Amino acid sequence: MTPVLIVLNAGSSSLKFQVYDMLDGAEPQLVWKGLYEGLGDTAHFIVKDADGTILEEKTWVGGNQTGHEEALMHLVSWLSQFREERKPVAIGHRVVHGGETFSAPVLVDESVVQRLELLVPLAPLHQPHNLEPIRIVRRRLPGMPQVACFDTAFHQTQSDIATLFALPREMRESGVRRYGFHGLSYDYISSVLKDYEPRLAEGRVIVAHLGNGASLCALKDGVSVATTMGFSALDGLPMGTRCGAIDAGVVFYMLREMKLSPDEAEGVLYKRSGLLGVSGLSNDMRVLRGHAATNADAKRAIDMFVYRITREIGSLVAALGGIDGLVFTAGIGENDVATRAEVMAGLAWTGLTLDDAINRTGGPCISSGDGPMAWVIPTNEELVIARQTRSVLGGMQAKLAS
Ligand code: AMP
Repeated sequence: MTPVLIVLNAGSSSLKFQVYDMLDGAEPQLVWKGLYEGLGDTAHFIVKDADGTILEEKTWVGGNQTGHEEALMHLVSWLSQFREERKPVAIGHRVVHGGETFSAPVLVDESVVQRLELLVPLAPLHQPHNLEPIRIVRRRLPGMPQVACFDTAFHQTQSDIATLFALPREMRESGVRRYGFHGLSYDYISSVLKDYEPRLAEGRVIVAHLGNGASLCALKDGVSVATTMGFSALDGLPMGTRCGAIDAGVVFYMLREMKLSPDEAEGVLYKRSGLLGVSGLSNDMRVLRGHAATNADAKRAIDMFVYRITREIGSLVAALGGIDGLVFTAGIGENDVATRAEVMAGLAWTGLTLDDAINRTGGPCISSGDGPMAWVIPTNEELVIARQTRSVLGGMQAKLAS
């Protein structure tokens, strides 16, 4: 019987899962991956094997009773058909915010859940959804070990100065500081750099995680020294629907002059801004690219996205004192040939030179010449959660044995 880990990534109406074989000493091996979406409404379930072959699909029509709890119990029951071969031994969760309390993955118990709940105000649109399956598992599968893995933890290596806001000292002491996110993705990229180009693993590398959420991370010798996201997942680059960095004065203007409530203002900045807000059309880069030739607003949104990425990379080059490598990852970074080409064109001053033909085929190395190198590397946040979960469990077993 093979022990397996379940990796969960919960959103407001979705639950993504992956199941990994946990063989002694080997890297966790993906067996199944799937998704529940439309939870609370017309829920849909799909599960595939590691090669992407669809194994099963199901839709619950008009069933507003299919929420996260029903989805999770459905997953447990789906897995039980393989009980002779595979046994779930732990669940690893993606948790957006670990605050100052959690600088590494942690085995969940009641006190951890309570401390994670205290962090909800720091990530009000993400953290509650991440915590829900943790609570459900504690209630419905008591005794199942759970590990929380944080998007913030990878950035703990940053200097005090890099994490400071220029705010009164007591605010820093109460936790108002730059944390940074997408850490599970940066952790993965950092872990595989040596397989792509050993020199980069020890160099000055900027990773561009460009998906529906987007940020940049400056790596020196594989660890984070600066990143574009700050206190919340709203800062830095413009994203699919989030505004990225804006003058804080805009928020006061929205509240005082436009008479928006804090919740309404938050909704504008998180859900109606970014590529969607500027284009008035879509948050999806594929749609915007499809319309850019004929729709000036779609083109403007893309131009703004590329401009801001290029400018922020310039800022991280300064933080690193130079650049040896640039890595593109996540949905847009891995797939959008034009975004990569436009960003690289704006960075010609660093010596980065695009190999246009290789960029069109997806790389992985898309630069030419003797200057800094540019790579396309698919990210794998779930594998990092599986690795971290296993490492916490290993520590727990060692403790029990001693
Ligand atoms: P993610 O959040 O990492 O799943 O990335 C989602 C973003 O990736 C969306 O803006 C998609 O439009 C974009 N994306 C996915 N596939 C492609 C593609 N083939 N070409 C351009 N953009 C893509």
